[in-house]
Parts: sequence; C-alpha cells; structure tokens
Amino acid sequence: MKRRGLIAGNWKMNSGLVEAAQELTGSILAGLSEREGKKLLCEVLVCPPFTVLSSVNQKIGGSSVKLGAQNMAIETSGAYTGEVSGLMLRNVGCHYVILGHSERRQYYGETDEIVAKKTASAYRDGLTPIVCVGETLAEREAGTTWAVVSRQINAVLPSLPQEAAKQQQLVIAYEPVWAIGTGKVATPEQAAEVHTSIRKLLVSKLGDEVASKIRLLYGGSMNAANAAVLLQQEDIDGGLIGGAALKAKDFLTIIDSYPSA
Ligand code: PEP
Repeated sequence: MKRRGLIAGNWKMNSGLVEAAQELTGSILAGLSEREGKKLLCEVLVCPPFTVLSSVNQKIGGSSVKLGAQNMAIETSGAYTGEVSGLMLRNVGCHYVILGHSERRQYYGETDEIVAKKTASAYRDGLTPIVCVGETLAEREAGTTWAVVSRQINAVLPSLPQEAAKQQQLVIAYEPVWAIGTGKVATPEQAAEVHTSIRKLLVSKLGDEVASKIRLLYGGSMNAANAAVLLQQEDIDGGLIGGAALKAKDFLTIIDSYPSA
C-alpha cells in the first residue's frame, strides 16, 4: 500500500506575528478549499512558531490541515525556564513536531543523543516526530554522507515504539544541510539515492512491514518549480519546506505536485 504523502511547511522564525500567521494560514485554507472535490493526495501540515500555534490552530478549525511545532523540550513540565513541552504542544492542537533540524543541531548544540531523547518524549506526549537528518557540504565532499545520515537515524530508532511505527507515526526528513535555504537543491538522483538507502536501513533494522510505513520527506530548497520531479522519486513521500512554505501560492503548487500514483 502506498504511504500517504506529507507536505509540511516549516515556517521557522517567520510569519510569527498573529496577523501574518493568520493571513498565511487563511490563504492556504482558501487555496485548499478551491480544490474541494479533488481529493487531496497528501496530508498537509504547517509548523509555525510557538507563539502563534494557538491562533493558527483556531484558524485551521476543523479543516484537514494539521499543526506541528518546530522543537520541544525533553521533559513534560517543571523548572526548565524557556522550554515548551510536548504536552503543551498537544494542548494547543499540535499533532507533529520537527526534531533535530540542522539549525537546531548547528546553532543550539543538539546532539544525536538529545534528538533521540526528544523523539522518545514526542511519543510519550502523543506527538509524531519528524526527525531531520542530513550532511553538511564538507561531509558530502568528504564522501561521508551515508555515514552521517545513518548515524543520525540509528541514534533515534531505539526511541521508536513498535506500535508507533506500525501506525505510520515516524517521519524522517532527509535535508542536506547545504541545500537548506541556499537555493541549491539536491538533484532528484542525489535525493533518491539517500532515500533508498534510508529505506533499506529501516528494513534491516525494523523489518519490511514497519519500514514500509515510515514516511521519508525531502527538504532543502524545494519549491514550486522543482517539487514535482523530487516528489516522483519512489522513496520520497513528501517534502519539508522552508522558504517556499511562506508563500501560500508556492506551497499550494507543491501540494498540487504530489503525484497521484
Ligand atoms: C528547512 O529548513 O526545513 C528547509 C527545507 O528550508 P528551505 O526549504 O528554505 O531550504
């Protein structure tokens, strides 16, 4: 059975004022309702900054668009100044959380160990983690892409409860760091090669049935012009989109690019 695709917008620290977040959400919803009748072939997710989650959740209302956060704390509650827990995210309507984004790894020192702990916490708090992995340009040029990506994935797999995996509750986003926000998109062949290796790794660690349910997203300068060819690759089940998710028209074009078979 084909996995249900996922097109996810990572707004980062953008469109974070209430009016801007409402406007962007409203335009996405309006675009989707114009497509009514055409069954959406993929799930649509928006991940705005923490402070507007609640207001975006209200705007989304009963529509099919899902809400996610961009990070979360390891702990559920307590004396952790400045942190936001998974439980709190659930409480404002989140179903997903992005973990281990390269910006978190690079600027906030998130290690594989921290990402693994956060992954376990996401399950504990009822959220589906979108775990980001990917190599830097230096790592690619040194020929260590697979060593890096497989290390990052192997670190989180022990946090995955069997039940969650069976229910399609793990998403892995392959995001080559050199392609994020740079306009340098991976070629479909480069992306497909890593995605195929990730699927093989998942099969070897978790077995066919579970591995076949895990969705693999590509992220890194995906846009309205290049999405179709990337999304056609066999093991690419959707996209994690930064810059192009901030323009409703582009985000909707990417959603439309999701292949039908
Ligand atoms: C991202 O940050 O997850 C991302 C893919 O960004 P962009 O699409 O802007 O490269």
